[in-house]
Amino acid sequence: MEIQYENLKTLNKPFEALLKQKFSDFLDKGWYILGDEVAQFEQEFGLYHHEKYVVGVANGLDALILSLRCCALEKGDEVIVPSNTYIATILAILHCDLVPVFVEPDIHTYNIDPKKIELAITPRTKAIMVVHLYGQCCDMAPILDLAARYKLKLIEDCAQAHGASYKGKLAGTFGDFSAFSFYPTKNLGAMGDAGAVICKKEEDYILLKQLRNYGSEKKYHNSVVGYNSRLDELQAAFLRIKLPFLNQINAHKQALASIYQQTLSDQFIKPVVVNNFEHVYHIYNIRHPERDRLKAYLQKHQIGTEIHYPVPPHHQKALKQMNQMSFPISSLIHETTLSLPCSFAHSTDQIKQVAEILNKFD
Ligand SMILES: *Cc1c(COP(=O)(O)O)cnc(C)c1O
Repeated sequence: MEIQYENLKTLNKPFEALLKQKFSDFLDKGWYILGDEVAQFEQEFGLYHHEKYVVGVANGLDALILSLRCCALEKGDEVIVPSNTYIATILAILHCDLVPVFVEPDIHTYNIDPKKIELAITPRTKAIMVVHLYGQCCDMAPILDLAARYKLKLIEDCAQAHGASYKGKLAGTFGDFSAFSFYPTKNLGAMGDAGAVICKKEEDYILLKQLRNYGSEKKYHNSVVGYNSRLDELQAAFLRIKLPFLNQINAHKQALASIYQQTLSDQFIKPVVVNNFEHVYHIYNIRHPERDRLKAYLQKHQIGTEIHYPVPPHHQKALKQMNQMSFPISSLIHETTLSLPCSFAHSTDQIKQVAEILNKFD
C-alpha cells in the first residue's frame, strides 16, 4: 500500500464532525471578518503560550513582514538570518527593504549557529531573525545574550515549531516578535492560509492590529500605511477546534520520529536532538550522500518523501545578489536532506514499514 508523504484529508478526518458543526455555526452567525472567532483564537493561542499579546494575520509571511515593520528599521539595515531556511523568512526581510545577512547553521541541529552570529554583526545590524527549523528550537540562551548585548531586535520564525520548547520554555516566547504560520501542513494547520504574531509590548500589539487592517484602528481612520492581512474569521474558527489537540498532534509526530530514531540504520544521518530541547518534528529529515537515489528507491516502494529544501536560498534566482556567495554547510544540507513521512495522518505501523524498507537500501 502506498504511503504518502502527507494527506491533509486524513490529517483532518478526526476533527471532521467538530469542523462541520463549526462551519454550520459560522453560517448561522453571518459574521465574516474580524469577529469573535479571531478574538477568541488570539486569546486561546496566547493562553497556550502564557503570552498576552497575539495578533492573527493572513499567513506566516505576513506575520514576519508585520513584525519587521514594527521594528521601525531603516532601508539598508541588516537582519541576521540562517542561510538554510524556507524562502519566506528571507523574503520578509527583502519586502521591508532590509538586507538579509546569512549565518550558517550547525550541521547537527540544522539551526543557526550562535557562535557564528557575532562574527556577522556590523554597525548596521539591527535584528536577528531565528528560525526553529523542522520543529526544534534554536539554542536561544546565547542568542538572547547577543541580542541584549548588541541591542538587536529578536524575531522568531515559529512556522515549523508550534509547541516546541527550549529548556521548558515554548518557541514563540523568547523574541520581541514571534511569527507563526498555520498553513495546512504545519503542526497547527488551518484549512487555508492563516498566521499570527506574538509580541511582548502593548505598543507593538496596537501597531500590529493597525498594520493588519489598513493601518486603521477606527474604521475609515488610517494612522499608518497598513496592509490587508487579517486572519480570516473562518480559519480562526477552525483553528480554535484544532488548538486543543496541538499537544496530541505533536506527541503523535514525536512517537513516529522516535520509531525512526530507534530503528533506522547508521547509514542514515538522523536529526540530533539536544537534551532539554523538545522537538515537535514538523519535519522528520534524514541525510544521505545519495539522497536522490534514496528518494527514487522509496518512490519505487510507493513511499512519498519531500526535500526541505532542494535549492538553498542563496542559489535561488530571486536572490541574485547572493548567487555568488558560498554557504557550504547550507549547501551540504540541501544536497543530502530527505524528509520522511511523519504526519498526524500516519500510523506507527506505516512508519515501521518505511523504516524497514529504508534499512534495506543499499
Ligand atoms: C511555512 C513557513 C513560512 C511561511 O508561512 P506561510 O503561511 O506559507 O506564509 C515561513 N517560514 C517558515 C520557516 C515556514 O516553514
